[in-house]
Amino acid sequence: MATSVVLNTGADMPIVGLGTWRALPGQVAEAVKTAIEVGYRHIDGAYVYQNEDEVGVGIHSMIKEGVVKREDLFIVSKLWCTFHAKSMVKAACQKTLSDLKLDYLDLYLMHFPMGFQAGDNLFPTGDDGKVISDNTSFLDTWEGMEELVDAGMVKAIGISNFNHEQIEALLNKPSLKYKPVNNQIESHPYLTQEKLINYCHSKGISVTAYSPLGSPDRPWAKPGEPSLLEDPKIKAIADKYNKTTAQVLIRFHVQRNVVVIPKSASPQRIKENFQVFDFKLSEEDMKTILSFNRNWRACSMEWGATHKDFPLNAEY
Ligand code: NDP
Repeated sequence: MATSVVLNTGADMPIVGLGTWRALPGQVAEAVKTAIEVGYRHIDGAYVYQNEDEVGVGIHSMIKEGVVKREDLFIVSKLWCTFHAKSMVKAACQKTLSDLKLDYLDLYLMHFPMGFQAGDNLFPTGDDGKVISDNTSFLDTWEGMEELVDAGMVKAIGISNFNHEQIEALLNKPSLKYKPVNNQIESHPYLTQEKLINYCHSKGISVTAYSPLGSPDRPWAKPGEPSLLEDPKIKAIADKYNKTTAQVLIRFHVQRNVVVIPKSASPQRIKENFQVFDFKLSEEDMKTILSFNRNWRACSMEWGATHKDFPLNAEY
């Protein structure tokens, strides 16, 4: 089983990466170091996680110690929504590069199709609790991202949280220079996303699954919501293979050729989450896991429901 997917640029993207959302300053540099030590070569970050400076410290100490070379790593970051004006994209990427202490990213994603009012507040909200949009179009923002490729700041560009209608609009944009190489979306057995994944793959766009463990640490979790890590049916499958539930949740994506980015800040779980290349789920178990779909989202983005580019109103 391949340990990477091939992007439409020809580059390899390691199929398991380390997520860094809510990885605390004071912990995240160590998490990145542990991950690289145990074999991860892909780190998923974003400006809005507000920890890129420390992620950079972790990356650099591993390069300095000779554990890896920069070219062996695949570093991903994301353009935040308050920087969607085409004129702001380059400075936003430059800030991420300087925080990470890198001179290029392997992949830069538009974090959401929704642009927010520009300013210091990363989540500008109105009295209704909904995000305040700007008047940008993600098609123009994309042009700003294309310029980053030409400037050598990023090797490839992609999208995140785009539905298939929005991807179609991007692919049909007159004078499109670079196709997105990747769409990063929520996916796990309760949100299998078969239609969107098939659509992306049919267009040569790879998919990354975020919140693969159901994001148990999400701040907006409500009592009574389903828990993937405690699902007895998934646990029963894991027991058959002598693996943990988390390992089955991660392996599920590897077998769909979907990149997966579990977050952990615990050395033992970082290691556990990477031990997914020594077993194979049977076709029957894959089908059973797919049947657990219930279109449940850990990230339902309620704050964006009134935004003109809210992605979750489309069927997929
Ligand atoms: P995950 O589904 O990866 O779950 C992370 C949580 O699970 C943490 O609380 C972690 O705790 C715990 N955990 C990790 N491994 C195990 C294990 N083996 N057993 C039990 N518990 C475990 O959630 P995220 O929402 O963080 O998603 C992963 C990554 O995807 C993010 O970190 C981010 O990089 C990206 N993301 C992107 C989004 C986007 O809009 N593009 C949105 C959301 C996420 P601990 O650290 O203590 O181990």
